[in-house]
Amino acid sequence: MLLNKVFRASLRSGIRLQSSSATAAKAPSSSHAGSPGFSFEMTDQQKEFQQLARRFAREEMIPVAAAYDRSAEYPFPIIKKAWELGLVNGHIPQEYGGMGLSIFDACLITEELAYACTGMQTAMEANSLGQMPVILAGNEAQKKKYLGRMTEEPLMCAYCVTEPGAGSDVAGLKTRAVKMGDEYVVNGQKMWITNGGKANWYFLLARTNPDPKCPASKAFTGFIVDADTPGIQLGRKEMNMGQRCSDTRGITFEEVRIPKENVLIAEGAGFKIAMGAFDNTRPPVSAPFKPVIK
Ligand SMILES: Cc1cc2nc3c(=O)[nH]c(=O)nc-3n(C[C@H](O)[C@H](O)[C@H](O)COP(=O)(O)OP(=O)(O)OC[C@H]3O[C@@H](n4cnc5c(N)ncnc54)[C@H](O)[C@@H]3O)c2cc1C
Repeated sequence: MLLNKVFRASLRSGIRLQSSSATAAKAPSSSHAGSPGFSFEMTDQQKEFQQLARRFAREEMIPVAAAYDRSAEYPFPIIKKAWELGLVNGHIPQEYGGMGLSIFDACLITEELAYACTGMQTAMEANSLGQMPVILAGNEAQKKKYLGRMTEEPLMCAYCVTEPGAGSDVAGLKTRAVKMGDEYVVNGQKMWITNGGKANWYFLLARTNPDPKCPASKAFTGFIVDADTPGIQLGRKEMNMGQRCSDTRGITFEEVRIPKENVLIAEGAGFKIAMGAFDNTRPPVSAPFKPVIK
């Protein structure tokens, strides 16, 4: 455990070095001095990260992947080990205890982990999806509270957007949040939520403006919701065709009261936040398909 902590600390300082080496990588190398263009060569730090993830996939994940796939049990012991090595929550900024990895760095890691098991990797990556709205739009207090705790212990979070009647068409979602005093009261149903039954907190997108003519860019609000808030009911774990050990569920919100302090940016800003989170997480969500295709 202590060794892992030291390792994580050295990785963090390595990543700090990486910022400068990444900048250096963009400059023309001496062998190409004078030639225009952009270097796609990986930094030494990125190569180290790739090697670490590859080793973890081969030594820790592959030996247990088939058993987890058969049992469909949540792979928490593996996630915990990955967290100790800094292979989970990579996007959390350094100010909040994370490593502040770039989208490209995250893709390097997810690709290696998915080679071993896309179920385990999806469970880990869903944390980044849940965290991204807070990284992009959270205020100082929200970031400290909800991102900070994830660097202190191996907790999970989830991104609650899809509904039984709204998948690709996010603007069609029906979950409603109504302001009552200093709280919002939420009613609705979410579907296919990764880490749904394991999360410590959720990002939730809900409609706050009931007027059907209100544009999507103003009709929805993004909230952070503690998973133990009364009124949250977890559906059964879905038995997916693949990624079976990942926890995918429906979640029902019935008269769930969320304090106004948990609104991201302001009422009406949620749709843009949700889309911004997709922009930053689509590459690492799709990177795992490369080893699957291979
Ligand atoms: C394992 C798993 C985990 C998931 N995890 C999460 C999660 O953590 N959080 C979350 O919020 N959601 C999650 N989802 C939901 C996922 O984001 C949705 O399944 C996805 O958005 C597609 O929505 P849908 O299933 O309703 O399909 P639909 O939107 O009904 O789409 C069905 C098909 O029609 C196509 N289509 C749809 N609209 C159009 C159009 N206008 N033009 C042309 N083609 C179109 C689509 O490309 C697709 O092929 C998960 C889903 C799965 C299966």
